[in-house]
This record gives sequence, C-alpha cells and structure tokens, in this order.
Amino acid sequence: MNQLESPNGSSSALEPAPTMTWDEALVEAHRCLMCWDAPCTRACPTSINVPQFIKRISTGDLLGSARTILSSNILGASCARVCPVEMLCEGACVLNELHERPIQIGRLQAFGTDDVVFGGRHLFTVSKPTGRSIGIIGAGPAGLSAGAELVKRGHTVMVYDANPQPGGLNTYGVANYKMDMQTAVREVQFIKDLGVEIRHETAVGTDVSVDDLLSSHEAVFVGVGLGGVPTLGLPGEDLEGVDDALDFIADVRAGTADVAGQRVAVIGGGNTAVDAVTQSALSGAQRVYLVYRRGRDQMRGYPHDIERALQHGVEFVHWSTPSRIEGTNSVEKLVCVRTELGPDGSVTELEGTEYTIPVDRVFRATGQAKRIGFLSTLPGVEIDDGGRVVVDEHHRTGNDRIWAGGDCVNGGKEVVNAVEHGKIAARNIHEALLAPSGV
Ligand SMILES: Cc1cc2nc3c(=O)[nH]c(=O)nc-3n(C[C@H](O)[C@H](O)[C@H](O)COP(=O)(O)OP(=O)(O)OC[C@H]3O[C@@H](n4cnc5c(N)ncnc54)[C@H](O)[C@@H]3O)c2cc1C
Ligand code: SF4
Repeated sequence: MNQLESPNGSSSALEPAPTMTWDEALVEAHRCLMCWDAPCTRACPTSINVPQFIKRISTGDLLGSARTILSSNILGASCARVCPVEMLCEGACVLNELHERPIQIGRLQAFGTDDVVFGGRHLFTVSKPTGRSIGIIGAGPAGLSAGAELVKRGHTVMVYDANPQPGGLNTYGVANYKMDMQTAVREVQFIKDLGVEIRHETAVGTDVSVDDLLSSHEAVFVGVGLGGVPTLGLPGEDLEGVDDALDFIADVRAGTADVAGQRVAVIGGGNTAVDAVTQSALSGAQRVYLVYRRGRDQMRGYPHDIERALQHGVEFVHWSTPSRIEGTNSVEKLVCVRTELGPDGSVTELEGTEYTIPVDRVFRATGQAKRIGFLSTLPGVEIDDGGRVVVDEHHRTGNDRIWAGGDCVNGGKEVVNAVEHGKIAARNIHEALLAPSGV
C-alpha cells in the first residue's frame, strides 16, 4: 500500500494540516460504528456512503475507498479539506451523542482519495463517445463536477473560464489553512485527465459570445458563481490600502500578500470576513480587527472558524459600523459608529458614538455581488429577486438547452453543494441529450 506524501508539502501556520498516515487512518477507521442508516451520509449534500468508504480503508482497499467517494463527489479530495464537517457529516456522527469525538470523516476522506486524485491513477472508464458536446461556463466546483460527470458518460465537454487558473473559489478563495492553491489546481488536473477540456482566460460574454456558445454546443451549463465584494460607498474608500477581502485572500494564496506588521480591519461578519482576519493574523499582521455591525450570535461565519480567529488573536469589534476611512495618501484610520438593534430587528446607528481605529489596511467582506449583468444576457433564463438563476429540480433553467448550478443558483453556499448541483444537472443533461426528442 503506497500512500503518497501530502500534496501540501511541509506545514506552516498558513498551510493545511498534513494528511493521515496509514496507522492513523486504520486506528480512526476502526473507531467507526458502521451505522446502518448512517446519519453522516444523510448529512452529506453529495450523499457519500461514508461507512462504506471507511470500511474499505479499514480493510486496506484504498482504491475501493476512492471509488466510493469519487463516484458520489468527484471533488472528494477538496471537499475533504474545505467542507465545514462540524456542520455536516462529522456533526451528524452518532459518537457525538455518546460524548465521544466524532469520526474524522474529512481527514479519512482525504486519505481515501489522495492516492487516486494526486497520484495520476485512473479509476473511471469513460463510455463510448456520444458525439454530443456541452459547453460549461465556469471552472469552479459546479462546472468541474458537471464536466466530469458528462465526460464519464461519453460526451465532449469544453469549460470556459475567465480566470488564468481553473478551480473557481477552490483555487482563489478558500482559506490557505484548509487547502492551498496548488492542491486545488492539482485536483483540476485529475478532472482534466478524465477528458474535460478547459479554455482559460476566456470570459463568456466578452471573449466568446453566448450566441457562439449556444451554436457550438448542444447544451450549456452555467456555473459562474458570484462576483466580487461591492464597494461600501464610504468616504475615503479609494485610499490606498482599501481592498476587496477576496482579492486579499487570492493574494495570500498566490503568496503575494503583505500585511506583516500592519494593522488590519476587516468589515463583515460572514465566512469571508472570518477567513480574511485569520489569514491576516497568520500572515503576521500586528493587530487584526473584525468590525461587524451586529453581535457574535448574528455572525454568519462558521462557529469553528470564529473560534480559530479568536485563538489567533483577532479582536472582534461588534455593534460597530464604519462611517468613513481617513488617511493622507493611504489608509490611517477607520472611523466607526456604534450600532444597536432597532425594534424591527434592523441595525440603527447611535448618534454621538463616533470613534476611530488606527489601521493600515481595510478589507471589505460584506458579501459578494450577484452576476446579474451576465446572467441577464442568457436567453430565456429567469433570475429571481435575489439575483439567483431559477432552475427546476434537475437544475434546468427556463431555456431547455441551459442548466445552472452552484453559487449562482443558491446565492452562495459550500463547495459540496456546488458539486451536487453539477452532478444533478449533468445527469439530466445526459438524459435530455439521449432522449428521442433531444434538446
Ligand atoms: C472567501 C471564501 C471562502 C470560502 N470557504 C469555503 C470553505 O471553506 N468551504 C466550503 O465548502 N466553501 C467555501 N466557500 C464557498 C465556495 O467556495 C463556493 O460555494 C463554491 O466555490 C461555489 O462554486 P461555483 O462553481 O458555483 O462558483 P465559483 O467557485 O465562484 O466558480 C465560478 C467560476 O466561474 C468563472 N466565471 C464567472 N463568470 C464567467 C464568465 N462570464 N465566463 C467564464 N467564466 C466565468 C469564474 O472565473 C470562476 O472560476 C468560500 C467562499 C468564499 C468567498
Ligand atoms: S463531502 Fe464533505 S460533507 Fe460529504 S462526507 Fe465528505 S467531508 Fe463530509
């Protein structure tokens, strides 16, 4: 049994935990109770048969384990690292009820998949070519999942992505301490090895028209995710040192961020804000503030990630909202006012409570914009009031040649949800393409 070394290399504060050794994996696998009606499987959005893949590890069948995982979730290697397992499979483990530590499903899943995904092993046979071609917009988790499922069924798949590197937020957005950029890109190579082609730096709507796409492919899957964090409209927001938190996180992942010794304020209370403060702290920032207009209980960030931020010395400034940013050439101060909850549940700013936080950097993390401009160019595709693409239970849009999934449909959830959307859509595209009526 030949377990690859961790694809992540040596560990530092900014790098993910190393994968398990065989001994660790066997000990952990033998702790599993192999529940018949496994709550972990029900809690997994991609319904991975968790007891089965763990059983296979416990009997030394690493390839079988990978097959179980990757048949349900082709991005099982990255999900193993980035899934909020505390809220999903591990949170549902019955050992929690017995006041024992839950099975480390995420780490076992990484152990079960790494040999195949990063070792260039071939696990799946591809069906004979159908002669049908599908265009996919976006090489994020949704698009990659759809693409992999479609090539396995013998279809030709071309993915168009605006970015230089594939992987979407798996490559550019998730925190480095969960999964580094190199690991995300190596996983995409595994998908490409199945036969999925990717055209990089090709934005649909700019470099290729939607009409061209619809005339070159029988079906189209839209997995464009969400956009950047919009500006807040604060005076001083154009000063040097004020940035979108997503750009900062992408810089951390590329190794080009420099906040060492600086005082950083991140505005927001969701997962992006929490990741940005933790990454700032881990990157050597002198002081890191998370400024949020509500209280801790209202934060949308995962509790375990909030705990991690606190452990790294991040200072949470609750019930405060920024009113302006001051500085001569670059940021020097974030001016805030105190807030409270109004009787109708909305946030009210309190007069006469202004105060300043001396800072060198300010990162906006107040929620990603929807890609309404692009989505509204897709003929026959309906967008709801929240800027999300409207789909049926098979992820088909109002245009019967266009399917959609991932963040652009659910408004922003997890990688594992995007993978499931791509999988459901691909199965329906396959059925529709091979139906006597076609599409
Ligand atoms: C900071 C941050 C941290 C996160 N951390 C986690 C985490 O720890 N765990 C977790 O499970 N989830 C996490 N998420 C959520 C997760 O990353 C997303 O739910 C997931 O990536 C959605 O996948 P997607 O394919 O829908 O979109 P994306 O990953 O956003 O991919 C969309 C792709 O479409 C491309 N694209 C967009 N428009 C066009 C166009 N017109 N033409 C061509 N290409 C286009 C983009 O370049 C991009 O590659 C995080 C999100 C953020 C913002
Ligand atoms: S994909 Fe995520 S939620 Fe599903 S079993 Fe794996 S780690 Fe758990």
